Amino acid sequence: MRVTFWGARGTFPATGADFARYGGATMCVEVECAGARLILDAGSGLRALGAKRAAAKAGVEAHLIISHLHLDHIMGLPHFAPFWRNDTQVLIHAARESVGEDDGETLFSVLRPPLFPLDRGALPARIDLRQYQTGSSFSPAPGIAVTTAALSHQGACAAIVVEAGGRKLCYATDHEHGDSEADKRLTSAAEGADLLICDATFTDAEWPAHRGWGHSTWEEGLRLKRRAGVKLLALAHHEPDRTDSVLDALGEVVANRCDNAFFARQGLSLEL
Ligand SMILES: [Zn+2]
Ligand SMILES: [Zn+2]
Repeated sequence: MRVTFWGARGTFPATGADFARYGGATMCVEVECAGARLILDAGSGLRALGAKRAAAKAGVEAHLIISHLHLDHIMGLPHFAPFWRNDTQVLIHAARESVGEDDGETLFSVLRPPLFPLDRGALPARIDLRQYQTGSSFSPAPGIAVTTAALSHQGACAAIVVEAGGRKLCYATDHEHGDSEADKRLTSAAEGADLLICDATFTDAEWPAHRGWGHSTWEEGLRLKRRAGVKLLALAHHEPDRTDSVLDALGEVVANRCDNAFFARQGLSLEL
């Protein structure tokens, strides 16, 4: 299973020299396994992923699994270059709890006027939507199992667990710890994962002033790693003002406290 970070930022993209190394694009993680391509969330990092594939002059066959509809997780959708190719097929999986009863109208509003110049129907690619029920499992392609779990976040965010070839990835980027039921669901979703990508928007010191914002801390990420017996932890969904130098300094503290945990960088690719 190959996991590539195309965006590791949360809330809003960051730009400028202070964000060059960890990257400013919002959440988008590519997972290549069992001969298929999954994309977890369509944050602004999706644009660079699409540009790379378009440069290879190839269409894309992919399953795009959306954790929830907050803008930082779907803002890349209108700027995915492979949508302009007729050999691209993307099946978007989004939670029924997020898209509601409107058959994707809210999600696809970013792919039609007035938010976008063209209507989705005018794009050459085939783009379909399949809704999943948060808490359920599905198999997007042979040999791949995806399980979802409800997190504690405004907007019905789901943890996405991908299992293939004996490897397990748990992606849980928007979760506020403290709700015991939701924490239990996340611990069980992350149980024994080879890689957990978790919400490290805040620090424990910052968190009391941000209760109710729907996010967690890097220290809680470390506690979750221990609780769930996770092998490798990627702290992600960086706060938009968190500069490279601050993330470097926090990374040193993390390295002193825990093995196999790091702040995710845009561009990082890992083989599990
Ligand atoms: Zn987010
Ligand atoms: Zn969110």
